[in-house]
Amino acid sequence: MSISGGIKIHVLHCGCVSLPRRAAFGGPALPARRVDLPVSAYLIEHPQGLILVDTGWSREISPRGVYAPEAVRRVLPRRLADFYRPRVAPGQTACEQLEAMDISPTDLDLILLTHLDPDHVSGLKELSGAKRLLMAEEERWWTARTVYSLRQPRAMWEPYPIDTFWYKGSPIGPNRWARDLFGDESVTLVNVPGHTEGMFALIIKNRGRFVLLSSDAAFSSRSWREMLVPGFGFNPKAQEKSLLWLREQSRLPDCAACIANHDPAEKPRVIEL
Ligand SMILES: [Zn+2]
Repeated sequence: MSISGGIKIHVLHCGCVSLPRRAAFGGPALPARRVDLPVSAYLIEHPQGLILVDTGWSREISPRGVYAPEAVRRVLPRRLADFYRPRVAPGQTACEQLEAMDISPTDLDLILLTHLDPDHVSGLKELSGAKRLLMAEEERWWTARTVYSLRQPRAMWEPYPIDTFWYKGSPIGPNRWARDLFGDESVTLVNVPGHTEGMFALIIKNRGRFVLLSSDAAFSSRSWREMLVPGFGFNPKAQEKSLLWLREQSRLPDCAACIANHDPAEKPRVIEL
């Protein structure tokens, strides 16, 4: 498969979270130890249109660009506010960065939501004018489960008209469930369960090379290199299986990059395929 003109992937950092270290990298529970991690979204310039992957934090969560507990608690329940401790510097929300690139929400052809945790859907509030919003049916289905209703405040995503897709049996992925978005293998949504049941990673492929966006199946490249199963997740066994798959993919010679959403070692950049 070869798309002339190519595919461009913009890695955007849309603020930060300050998580307990164990949530990101496993190990013993030491609540006092926290790590600052970026929150990413990705803009894909694809011949089928402009695609945004995840939405990061909205401005309302950090009105002055710093961590403001009162502002966060207006949007998130206290326990989630204390868990994430989000902040977004001025100009850094996904919406603001797109605006600086002269892209309005209505210019977006598609927003893909890898899963429904607040650091991935908060920005929907500012971006819901996109032509289409899409997530996995399996992710929506499991919001019925109490653990997810506690993790994923419904007000952040339920008001918006999000279409869903079903995974299909596939030779790709730890769960052998995937969805070829355009039928040409250029963008494949691969179920990587563990952090949530329905979450997907993306394989973006062109001209014999691919980029893998892992979402929260890993918190950094260290996660799969050292097999550090994140402490934050629903099913540790499935998380481990997803990490093993990421490790295998990252070692393939045609892998141009394998990128975790919250990797502190990643920097904003543009990758061309
Ligand atoms: Zn996340």
